[in-house]
Amino acid sequence: GRLVGGGADDAERAAEAALRPKRLEDFVGQQVVRGQLSVVLRAALARGVVPDHVLLSGPPGLGKTTLAMIIANEVDGVLRITSGPAIQHAGDLAAILSSLEEGDVLFIDEIHRLARTAEEMLYLAMEDYRVDVVVGKGPGATSIPLTLPPFTVVGATTRAGLLPAPLRDRFGFTGHLDYYGPGDLTRIVTRSASLLGVSIDAEAASELARRSRGTPRIANRLLRRVQDWAQVHGTPGRLDLAAARGALEVFEVDELGLDRLDRSVLQTLCTRFAGAPVGLSTLAVSVGEEPETIETVAEPYLFREGLIVRTPRGRMATPAAYTHLGLRPPDDGAL
Ligand code: ATP
Repeated sequence: GRLVGGGADDAERAAEAALRPKRLEDFVGQQVVRGQLSVVLRAALARGVVPDHVLLSGPPGLGKTTLAMIIANEVDGVLRITSGPAIQHAGDLAAILSSLEEGDVLFIDEIHRLARTAEEMLYLAMEDYRVDVVVGKGPGATSIPLTLPPFTVVGATTRAGLLPAPLRDRFGFTGHLDYYGPGDLTRIVTRSASLLGVSIDAEAASELARRSRGTPRIANRLLRRVQDWAQVHGTPGRLDLAAARGALEVFEVDELGLDRLDRSVLQTLCTRFAGAPVGLSTLAVSVGEEPETIETVAEPYLFREGLIVRTPRGRMATPAAYTHLGLRPPDDGAL
């Protein structure tokens, strides 16, 4: 299966939670966002007010949920977790909002998928700390205005641009998380190994870092697969380069860290459409995935690695993509 995105079982979720840093100072990398957040949080603490609402954007698995938890920890607030898709009706959001207490941090994952009516209720709550609770049904229904205690919304989205401007504007600070470099990922893998109580060689850690798609969640999951590999090959608890390479091969992670979906996108562009530009929806149908998954999970990393480009007519594979797949680039000078 995939190493990122949905479908993780409970054991994977629990393992992930155990590896989460609890404090801003333990959060590895992302210096810019970390520095900005630190200013926002320390200023709020010094003034004795709740921090301004925070929007976090970036591809999955880079630490948005982790940062939301850290924000709550740093300001000693209670973290409440929900998500855009979990809120079907404005009433669901009204119930959550009316139960908030002063200083709570409300984390809304995939906030770009909130229902429109909920979105409007959220603007009002974020700006004026007010919510209108509807009591009863039909002609007898009445709307009771409720004042909310000061609280902080932390919204997470794969791209800030997916949010309607009025909602985006209610956030006092937007932090953009970008893929991690190999140095930071090596530190994350090493830290995680020590939390898991296993030892990992420097070369093994940097091999995992190099092949984790710039994503801490993937690095941590690969680490556990290497742990599995070492377990069944008679060296439990000792993760060396052979174990790392062995696990990467079994779990079909290639030299660049690309997974099945990434390779399937490249394969489609290079062979099925023979190098012609392909639109997002056509690409999604060919690969058998949701367009949003292609656009927010696979493509950002492929762009960043220089394997695909966007043209006005659609996505195209670069010569590097052909070489990576072991194919000959088309020599018609299409790029
Ligand atoms: P999604 O949007 O898919 O929920 P996310 O961006 O919220 O993903 P998290 O769940 O916060 O990602 O992080 C995934 C895993 O990576 C967690 O186990 C977390 O501990 C680890 N992790 C993320 N960022 C860091 C970091 N900067 N330092 C150490 N560990 C990290």
